Amino acid sequence: CGIIGIISHTPVASRLVDSLKRLEYRGYDSAGIATLDAGQLQRVRAEGKLKNLESRLDGEPIAGTIGIGHTRWATHGAPTVANAHPHATARLAVVHNGIIENFRELKAELQADGYSFESETDTETVAVLVTREMDRGAAPREAVANVLGKLEGAFSLAFLFKGEENLLIGARRGSPLAIGVGRGEMFLGSDAIALSPFTDEVRYLADGDWTILTHDAAEIFDEDGNPVDRPVTVSAGKP
Ligand code: GLU
Repeated sequence: CGIIGIISHTPVASRLVDSLKRLEYRGYDSAGIATLDAGQLQRVRAEGKLKNLESRLDGEPIAGTIGIGHTRWATHGAPTVANAHPHATARLAVVHNGIIENFRELKAELQADGYSFESETDTETVAVLVTREMDRGAAPREAVANVLGKLEGAFSLAFLFKGEENLLIGARRGSPLAIGVGRGEMFLGSDAIALSPFTDEVRYLADGDWTILTHDAAEIFDEDGNPVDRPVTVSAGKP
């Protein structure tokens, strides 16, 4: 029920978990994080409390200076590790809050196209749709833009791409998502509370917006793909 993303020059795993702790108040049944270590996707997920995720990470630490994290409140698929986010393919990992209403049709279409699934979630459909676009030759940003147009329902999303150490993509429609602006680092979070350990400079995305983050810049687009500007607000709770 909460999302965090960090693109940085210093390790992110423990910061992702710290931020997820700030989102605990929203309720959740499982949690997970994914990072890139030397370009390769690493992922650790656990059922239940963040303590369980932390103890898994103690046994199996993951490196990386870019990553995404999630606390899940299951809507489709039981609260198991296999259904916990991030969901991943060979190309990307994604975290999602909300519901993709038309996932059954989309999943059937992907299965007919030869794609297979590891979970019962609506979210994995988004991961596989973007993967199919990339298999067809699309770059990450183009792949995400194409897929957003196919989704019905409410979502906030954060994407991490294999081999792309300087790229995070976020999107929101009906669920909240904000950008946190740092110094040489950028963040995505469900709210200012998630971002508060890192920065007090927050740019709230408007409904339908999506964003491309690098270490030093945030490009924002509206639902029609037009570049837009969203003001920086300075939140009260300075870290
Ligand atoms: N619908 C997704 C799932 O069940 C996301 C739930 C959430 O918002 O945490 O996995």
